[in-house]
Amino acid sequence: MVEPIKMTTRQEREGILHEAGFNPFLIKAEDVIIDLLTDSGTGAMSASQWGGLMEGDESYAGSKSFFHFKETVQDLTGFKHIIPTHQGRAAERILFGVVGKAGKFIPNNAHFDTTRANIEHVGAVAQDLPIPIAKEPSALDPFKGNIDTKRLRAFIKDKGPENIPLVMITVTNNTGGGQPVSLANIRETSEICKENRIPFFIDACRFAENSYFIKMREKGQGDRSVKEIAQEMFRLADGATMSGKKDGHVNMGGFLALNNDLWSEQARNLLILTEGFPTYGGLSGRDLEAYAIGLKEVLDEEYLKYRIRSVQYTGEKLTAAGIPLVLPTGGHAIYIDALNFFPQIPREQFPGQVLCCELYLAGGIRGVEIGTVMFGKSKPAVEYQGLELVRLALPRRVYTQSHMDYVCEVLIEVFKNRKTLKGLKMVYEAPTLRHFTAQFIQT
Ligand SMILES: *Cc1c(COP(=O)(O)O)cnc(C)c1O
Repeated sequence: MVEPIKMTTRQEREGILHEAGFNPFLIKAEDVIIDLLTDSGTGAMSASQWGGLMEGDESYAGSKSFFHFKETVQDLTGFKHIIPTHQGRAAERILFGVVGKAGKFIPNNAHFDTTRANIEHVGAVAQDLPIPIAKEPSALDPFKGNIDTKRLRAFIKDKGPENIPLVMITVTNNTGGGQPVSLANIRETSEICKENRIPFFIDACRFAENSYFIKMREKGQGDRSVKEIAQEMFRLADGATMSGKKDGHVNMGGFLALNNDLWSEQARNLLILTEGFPTYGGLSGRDLEAYAIGLKEVLDEEYLKYRIRSVQYTGEKLTAAGIPLVLPTGGHAIYIDALNFFPQIPREQFPGQVLCCELYLAGGIRGVEIGTVMFGKSKPAVEYQGLELVRLALPRRVYTQSHMDYVCEVLIEVFKNRKTLKGLKMVYEAPTLRHFTAQFIQT
């Protein structure tokens, strides 16, 4: 598909941003020139996927498209039960509805926000166990997404294996900057889980990007295909959740896959309650068809090379201009360190949000603040201690190198003017998830 980009002037964008209360979430997509808000569901489908939509079988039960989907996921993962869902969080809600409750603990390298929310929703505790170097934005490490296996062992001992229904690893580590997890780390985690008889699950949203990083960076993996690496990764686990909106190359879709018969039966019963019959799970037959094709296409190594290289290329250009980033660049996004970008703007005046607004004003680019606006709160006060980041996420198969060159030019221009910029004041905040609707004024 080819989509026109509407060009706007700086003066028009000033009016639009004002209207949106200095919150890029409230800007109409058509008023954005380059949209890097998220890589979730924003990718372009291939000709083959569009062709697949035409062949979608919309039978209520046992549709041909379901079996195509099921066989594709089974070939990739080896799991016994494949349960389609409308997106990743539906798979999480169902899984934790089955295994989670008060008094239970779910460790992960770093939980994605919907995963954490679904665990906490059933009264269980979501525990992040990243390796210590993950907290240092500029420290170079090939597998900064790894789980801290030493802490995992200690955590299991402390809480008791009987209170840990499953251990998770998120590939790539989205919350930690899209950083990959090594195969060695996944193998060791799998071993630890076996020793303690705890099931091991993978949050597989970006399994192909992670497998590509393993091929590129891990000793002894360079001669294997990305598909072989992905197949081994899944076979070290007992189950997986996935959002197809990432490495599924679809605009909507997800799955829960697992080996446990009892859990799977309970999951299917929950699925029928809110998502649909187990052979469609909230998706149309055509969606399942496109998802099955997308799961094969995402393993194309030329595609992965172009994607990962685009992120790296952008990172190199920005680093050469002196712009502080989370390094090394990960799989799906560039993360800018806003506290170091604007040393004159204190956290209380939202340096990340200022950068998002300036990117929009200067070049019509939309990114997202991941810092105090997203994680802080004024009533009751919650002070955020983590990094103040701006994420520029790359939709799949949408933008080319020249689009990224434009993004770099705009960002470098904003960086040159950084000392003249001032903070923002928040004048409206919703009681939960305030970043979506917050309103600001300039200080
Ligand atoms: C997007 C995402 C999810 C949730 O998937 P949705 O399709 O948005 O519900 C879960 N985990 C990770 C790591 C993600 O990136």
